[in-house]
Amino acid sequence: MVASSQSQSQGRGDWPAIGIDLGTTYSCVAVWRQDRNRVDVIANDQGDRLTSSVVAFTANEGIVVGDAAANQAFSNPANTVYDVKRLIGRRFSDDCVQQDMASWPFKVVAGRDDRPMILVRSRGEERQFAPEQISAMVLAKMKETAEAYLGVKVKNAVITVPDYFNNSQRKATMDAGTIAGLNVMRIIMEPTAAAIAYGLHKKPVSDQGRTVLVFDLGGGTLDVSLLNTDPGKEIGAPLFDVKAIASDTHLGGSDFDNAMVNYFVRRFIREHKNTDIRSNQKAIQRLRTAWERAKRILSSRTQTTIEVDALHAGIDFHQTITRTLFEELNKNLFRKCLVALKQCLRDAKLDMSSVHDVVLVGGSTRIPKVQNMIKEFFDGKQLCRNINPDEAIAYGAAVDAASFIRESKMEPPLTMLLDVTPLSLGVEVDFGDMTVLIPRNTAIPTRKEQVFSTYHDDQIDVVIQVYEGESAKAAENNLLGKFVLTGIIPAPRGVPNINVTFDIDQNGVLNASVNDMATGLENKITITNENVGLSMEEIERMAQEAER
Ligand code: ADP
Ligand code: MG
Repeated sequence: MVASSQSQSQGRGDWPAIGIDLGTTYSCVAVWRQDRNRVDVIANDQGDRLTSSVVAFTANEGIVVGDAAANQAFSNPANTVYDVKRLIGRRFSDDCVQQDMASWPFKVVAGRDDRPMILVRSRGEERQFAPEQISAMVLAKMKETAEAYLGVKVKNAVITVPDYFNNSQRKATMDAGTIAGLNVMRIIMEPTAAAIAYGLHKKPVSDQGRTVLVFDLGGGTLDVSLLNTDPGKEIGAPLFDVKAIASDTHLGGSDFDNAMVNYFVRRFIREHKNTDIRSNQKAIQRLRTAWERAKRILSSRTQTTIEVDALHAGIDFHQTITRTLFEELNKNLFRKCLVALKQCLRDAKLDMSSVHDVVLVGGSTRIPKVQNMIKEFFDGKQLCRNINPDEAIAYGAAVDAASFIRESKMEPPLTMLLDVTPLSLGVEVDFGDMTVLIPRNTAIPTRKEQVFSTYHDDQIDVVIQVYEGESAKAAENNLLGKFVLTGIIPAPRGVPNINVTFDIDQNGVLNASVNDMATGLENKITITNENVGLSMEEIERMAQEAER
């Protein structure tokens, strides 16, 4: 159905090596830090970890790439190029190219051998660019972002593409990398990269292998993929096989945005009896930008306001918008997401119960309704989403880039952050202090024991409260669970020997147990990493706070 996930490498690599998610709307770059044993997602010169995949050609500044290009789009639409991922490696006469072209404000013409060429004016001069050249400009920006962060030149990279990309689309993406001055060590598939980010290629497999469903809802596309790791796989074979793909090439964040902007425009017309707003492109664009910001807020809050001064004909636009209304107005689009999901399972002839892991990818999966729909569909199953969904692909690509280099240098495979405890684990003792049993970054599986005693004379029970976090005060950490041991033989304080054991298995499941050495009385609790639910960002923040 599709070619192997690993295109031939262009040669042996060396550090540093980066992973790039070259997205339709946003791109992201990440790197494996050998020194820190973790992945860093890299922020650009604006401080953003995502960079708009937009290239603008301007009269004065020449070529502008990224968010600066996106921001000037409405004053220079014909020379602001986006969505090139929809063009790369395709023919001008392809149906999808012809259809997409109709909605783009920039011009695409037929070049040599039916190749699509993008026609722009740059510094007052008409020029033509191949999609590979435009993508190369985005890739060069990502390369520079990484170089500024690492302080060294970067050459080696792994770049991701959708799993449905054919050979010419993959080849064109590789060429774009070469044009950008990168050595593309290999191209891997986006869902594979996301699964690698979660370390799913290393998790134990069942007899039929491990089945992973990746649900990627981005700015303009939905890609649902079912992957499988085969327990009997030969060494050197791709980490995952693709069992089925279901895509909707025009369903994503910008469709939700369109629906909302239309709604606001209708309201504006009704309230102000002014229909001219429809033809005021600048007003529509400003409204869209304000809404997009509001949409992000609605992913964490249930209500927000949109304010655009002098939107049209001197009229200010003020509107309170609730999450409920957003969900209501996009009901049908959300439903379409489930249609693709079901289709994918049907094509693979799989039941949802045979899916081991569900991975959420793409900025639009930050929408609570989308998360809930999928969770409900999978019967309340915990979803992999603790890596930021719009960064997971670059994250996995960075891990893969590092693995590639280690392999070529015959170094042992890397231990990922996900194979270690992200936060210290301990219990609360006297005066609310935290006693750590398993320090942060301990490789799992692991087992630690410590003997405690009673605090009062004749105390007959002890409460064990299990916390994770870096603060010396238990209350400032995250309470994972508590349990009680009763029936201790009355004795002066400090005499009984109470043994507490923490045991973390391969899957990150913590078994905490307590036993009174005198009586043999025991109690225990099981804490799965799934009910912890801290995101990587929170973990980082907590670690930094504690360091301070
Ligand atoms: P791509 O389509 O290039 O893969 P992303 O996966 O980064 O891009 O998704 C971009 C989309 O995610 C945009 O439509 C953006 O509006 C949306 N998005 C980003 N953050 C949020 C959020 N917090 N809530 C809702 N939508 C979001
Ligand atoms: Mg994407």
